[in-house]
Formats: sequence, C-alpha cells, structure tokens
Amino acid sequence: MALIVKKFGGSSVKDAEHVMNVAGIVVDEYKAGNDVIVVVSAQGDTTDDLIEKAKEINSATPLKREMDMLMTAGEQISIALLAMAIDKLGCPVISLLGWQAGFSTDSHHGKARIKKINTERMKTELSKGNIIIVAGFQGLNKYDDLTTLGRGGSDTSAVAIAAAMSADRCQIYTDVDGVYTADPRKVKNAVKMDEVQYDEMLEMATLGAQVLNNRSVEMAKKYNVELEVLSSLERKPGTIIKEHVKMEKTLIRGVAKDTSVTTISVVGLKDQPGVAFKLFNKLAQYKVNVDIILQSVGRHGTKDITFTVSHEQMDDAIKAMESMKGVFDYSDLKVNNGLSKISIVGAGMESNPGVASKMFEALYDADINIHMISTSETKISVLIETELADKAVQAVHDAFIG
Ligand code: ASP
Ligand code: MG
Repeated sequence: MALIVKKFGGSSVKDAEHVMNVAGIVVDEYKAGNDVIVVVSAQGDTTDDLIEKAKEINSATPLKREMDMLMTAGEQISIALLAMAIDKLGCPVISLLGWQAGFSTDSHHGKARIKKINTERMKTELSKGNIIIVAGFQGLNKYDDLTTLGRGGSDTSAVAIAAAMSADRCQIYTDVDGVYTADPRKVKNAVKMDEVQYDEMLEMATLGAQVLNNRSVEMAKKYNVELEVLSSLERKPGTIIKEHVKMEKTLIRGVAKDTSVTTISVVGLKDQPGVAFKLFNKLAQYKVNVDIILQSVGRHGTKDITFTVSHEQMDDAIKAMESMKGVFDYSDLKVNNGLSKISIVGAGMESNPGVASKMFEALYDADINIHMISTSETKISVLIETELADKAVQAVHDAFIG
C-alpha cells in the first residue's frame, strides 16, 4: 500500500461533471489499495471572480486579511463538492480546510509561506480508512487568521503535504498532459517530455511555461518530492519532475516565452561608483524583482542602466526610480512594454560551447533582431519584439529540437 497525493486544478473541477470525473480517478486509486490525499483548487475562475467582487467594493486597497477570508472560500466550495462526489461513488471520505489539515503559515496575507504542517489529523483520518480532500492555497497564521499562499498556491499545498507525510507519489493533474519542449498550442512539433529535472522545470516555470507554480517546484526540489504532471481528462502517464533524469542526447530541453516583460532604461546617470548600488537598492526597497540588467559603457561622464521587470511590477519600478530624483540624477526614464523574452533551457549547457551561437543564428535566419541577452548555467535568454515572439520560439525550437 502506498500513499498518493493528487492535486487537481480549477479547470479539472470546474463543474459537476468534472468533479465527478475527478472523483472517479480518486476512487480508482483508493480501490487499488492506496491511501489517497487530494488537494483541490477553487472551481474554474472562482478565485478571479472573488477578486472581482472585492474590487467592486474597493478597487484600490481592499483589506489584505479580508481578501484572504474571501479567497479561501473558493477552495472550501470545491472540497465539499468533491467529498460529496466521492461519497456518491461509495467510498469513505472527509474534506478538510487548510487549518484542519494542519497548515500553519506566516502572516503575510496573500503571499503566506508555510511554516509547518501538523500531520496528526490527516494521519488519524487515513487510519480510519478515509480519503482526505484538502483545500489548497490556504493556511492559518499564529493569530488564527486565514491566509493564502499566493496565486496558483495549491500546487505548493500538495507538495508540502507530500513532503510532510512522506508520500510515495505526488501527482499534479491539470488540463495539459505533461510538460512540453514548447507551448504545444503554438508550436506544432513540440514534444512531450517523459522526465525533466527540477532546475529545468524551475526555469521553464519562471520563463512562462505555465504548468506548475514555481514555489511548488522549489519545495519539491528541497524535499526531494518526485512530481508527476498529468491530464485529468486522459488516463495516461504525464511528465515526471525529479533530480536525476535519463540522459538524452538533446542538450536543450525546451523553449519558453515570457511576454510579461517591461524594459526600463535610466538614461544619463553619472558614471561614478555607487550608482548601480543605489539604483538596485532602491528597487529592492520597493520589492521589485529585476531580471536582466544591462549597463552601457560610460561616455562623457554619464552612463545608462537598463533592466527588465514583469508587467505587474512596472508601476513599483517607476515609482522607485522617481523617488531617486534628488538622491542622484538622470536625464530620462524610458519604459518599453513591447519586448518579450525567449529562452532556451537545459541543464548542462554551460559545458557546451556553440549553444548560444546556434540560438542567435536561428534568430538571424528568421530575421529577428535581439535587444538584450542574458545567460546562466541552465538557460540563455534574449529579448525581442513581442510581435515576433511566436516566430522566434518556432525558429529556435526548429534549430534545437526540430
Ligand atoms: N485558486 C487559487 C488560484 O486561482 C489557487 C490555485 O489555483 O492554485 O490562484
Ligand atoms: Mg485557480
């Protein structure tokens, strides 16, 4: 007998028919003789709808504690419905809210981190023979107030349970059947991968291959929880995410696209020590995550610094730069939302010369101009015009994966 954790996203439980389908998958696992803990998200677009309701009341600054009170309601609905569906199929089941399942978090409303899971209740329920349905994305802080883990947080709930309960498997069910070498809706010859390494998956997730939430992959790596991403609609194996994967001859595992890129150029900074420090320190104070950084060569005593942030952080980044006026001056702030980031991902490409030039050649052949470049051990990224992003992904995918 094994302990299996299964997580189902909002699209997999969006209506009664889908809930019954999920119940069927869960019951089959249980009848095969396994203990099953299920984590579910809110149905369909419920979380977005709840956020909209809050905005109708206060579009600017709804209370963060009350936002969590509101959003946790979405998952409460889906756990109750799924438990009813499993009961209908004749299996013993109990639904638990995050706190009932033992989730303690810090007090960062809307972005809470899990501090501890008290597994007592889950263990008791399993020993009674129950299937357990846990509300994803939520916990309780030390003041007994409800918290949420940030958008897409149910993946993290599932991985956390798998780690805390030493589960044998953690399966993340979604509406795609695995992780592909590129977005299969855009790139016809994209290939489904059998296995991917944690680090590769992390790059793919940050780079806009929206299959798994990033924090869940980080946690899976930290606690060595093997993940499987698979479809709730077709019963077939998905993609396994783990530390060591079978060596394949392809060095490049995937091509990702991120269209949420804002480029900010601070023009005419003094060319002297401390300027970059002050600038990025200010951005850190405003909690802005900077991705690519480029500094121009100094000329006539001035230099330019250009950096990229996600669209959501554009306003904060601009505010941070404006607040620097007076601390030290610059002549102009240029903001551009028209670029996208295309990246190739693959562990071990640093030891392989020629990868970058092959990527640039593919873009050159497709007549696509590169604005910025950045590289790391597991990826090479370029910024190009957003209008050309899909063409670029296809060209690079053809060059490396074919
Ligand atoms: N329902 C939450 C959201 O939409 C959590 C999740 O789906 O994982 O962000
Ligand atoms: Mg959701």
